[in-house]
Amino acid sequence: MQTGIERVRIETPYPEDHVNAYLILGDPLTLVDTGLPFPKSLAQLEDGLARHGVRFADIEQIVVTHMHLDHIGGVSAVQQASGARIVVSEAARRIVELGEDEHRRFDAFYAAFAREAGSDVRWESRIWMQKYDWRDVVYVRDGDVVRAGGRDWRVMYVPGHSRTDIVLVDPAGHAIAGDHLLPTISANAFVEPPVDPSAPRPKPLLDYRASMERTRALDLALVYPGHGDPFADHRALIDRRFAEHESRCAQIREALAEGATTVAEVTRRLFPKLEGPVVMLGLSEVQGHLDLLESRGEVTSAMDGEVRRWTRVAASSG
Ligand SMILES: [Zn+2]
Repeated sequence: MQTGIERVRIETPYPEDHVNAYLILGDPLTLVDTGLPFPKSLAQLEDGLARHGVRFADIEQIVVTHMHLDHIGGVSAVQQASGARIVVSEAARRIVELGEDEHRRFDAFYAAFAREAGSDVRWESRIWMQKYDWRDVVYVRDGDVVRAGGRDWRVMYVPGHSRTDIVLVDPAGHAIAGDHLLPTISANAFVEPPVDPSAPRPKPLLDYRASMERTRALDLALVYPGHGDPFADHRALIDRRFAEHESRCAQIREALAEGATTVAEVTRRLFPKLEGPVVMLGLSEVQGHLDLLESRGEVTSAMDGEVRRWTRVAASSG
């Protein structure tokens, strides 16, 4: 089957060990995601494109599935060589346009989030975002259409894994999904500040589940994920992820029953080996599931000084 979608696999030092870029052949010649910004990663991207007779300079359009470093690292290099326009979610506008000021807002958010969770972990948003020198950026919203490889792709805004996730779907049901749907690992619904600074803290797991309900309803032929092999039957995968959320909720109920009250205490029980900055991933995972339990009326919370304490709501007998 000729889909005109070519996968380029780029190694990473992270547990999933590689990230995918996709070349969409045709007009305009489009690259989706770009690997890390390091020379070795850029060389692998270059080699992968060369297998299809394409050089950086040939790329006409770069689509960014979401603003994580393993996906956006090569954007500047490819744009500098090619002058390609960049297509990215409207939700990324502040990160792209404000740079350092936005990093400061993110870092203040994470410091406050950790404090309320009862943790002293420090998280630097620069680890996975950077100050960008992008030009000619097209910001897209849910329902927009992006022309790539001779056909129209519908943009879906699917916040959850990050605030900036988009999925592109072509008329044949091919979906380029970034990290929204991953076949081998369960993507973290990572807590992030709201896109609109005046809005309350987003509830990333609730958003992620709503986004997955939307993609679940699509008839898709094949999903091209940000990590791992392209796969069919996305509904089975989404159902598996929903089931995993239920098991995680059960663990959290148990931790609360055993006396944990803060997000940090629950995180230590669930992930005792986490140390250093990655504790933030654990806090985020626990917070997301507490948000889910709270939405179902199973838990409630109150501030105790600077720390938020969580308790189970007794099951009603009526
Ligand atoms: Zn990724």
